[in-house]
Amino acid sequence: MLYLFILNLMLISNFLNSDAQKFFPTDSEISEYLVIEKFVNFNGTNLILTREISYTNQEKAFIAINPETLETFLIRDTNFIEIDGFHFEDMPFTKIKNSFYNNSNTIGEFNKKEKLIQKNALVLLTTDLCPTDKPLDTNFYKAIAETEKNTSNKIVFIIFFSGKWIEEHKNEFEWLKTNNFKFISGNHTYSHHIIKEKFPNLKLRNEIIKTEIIMLKNGLIPSCFFRFPGLKYNPENLTILYEMNLLPLSVNFWGGQKSYPQKSILLVHSNGSVSVEVKKFIKFLKDIRTKNIKFVSPENWFKS
Ligand SMILES: [Zn+2]
Repeated sequence: MLYLFILNLMLISNFLNSDAQKFFPTDSEISEYLVIEKFVNFNGTNLILTREISYTNQEKAFIAINPETLETFLIRDTNFIEIDGFHFEDMPFTKIKNSFYNNSNTIGEFNKKEKLIQKNALVLLTTDLCPTDKPLDTNFYKAIAETEKNTSNKIVFIIFFSGKWIEEHKNEFEWLKTNNFKFISGNHTYSHHIIKEKFPNLKLRNEIIKTEIIMLKNGLIPSCFFRFPGLKYNPENLTILYEMNLLPLSVNFWGGQKSYPQKSILLVHSNGSVSVEVKKFIKFLKDIRTKNIKFVSPENWFKS
């Protein structure tokens, strides 16, 4: 009994550490991929299960969101207990989700009325890998590594992958995965269709799922973050994100501005097609110490 208890503790501490999320159930093919919503308690931790993945060899896994930290994990089809969703109402993830949905907008949209500052900002760093023939702009990543070295701090950032980019840039994708970056995998749809007017939710859902499956097949765990291609959307499309437990992130800082919101979401395209953004970012990095600019994780960005 005690042994089991200790084993459970080990499992928990393992899967609550995002760096330790190497659990992939199998090398066999995904046979079924379902969008679900189950509120569960797993050894004392409340989690929301959002996807159920079945494999051809009968194994099963779930994508779980920790609603306190906004991190996602893969867990086995194991001894969790289903509980009432009411226990999750006051948790950060639920509040953020309800807030974007009730306000009918994406998170961190540029707001003309917002006060802009030049110091002491909290920055959530994001980069988009939209489909392109161009090679990855490694200068962006090298600048991150350099800053990490100088500050002795890892920078958590979100890479919004389009499924197509992953498929067409296998070597660069491997480079990203094996260079010790602390990135979170966001979803930028499969084909990067820019929404102009109406866009069927079913089509958007398929674009999202296709990308999630590509991520999983390539060893990434899809996070709960989503970015619309070109930041364009129809408010009706927010329903499908809400249903899929995805949080749509916008942008209110592009790196070249002298002033920016205290809570900034910075976008730098690193897909090789907007090198000017990377250059501005590198320039911006030079002053972060004197200006007391902090790069923060999504958890801390939302908490502040
Ligand atoms: Zn894009």
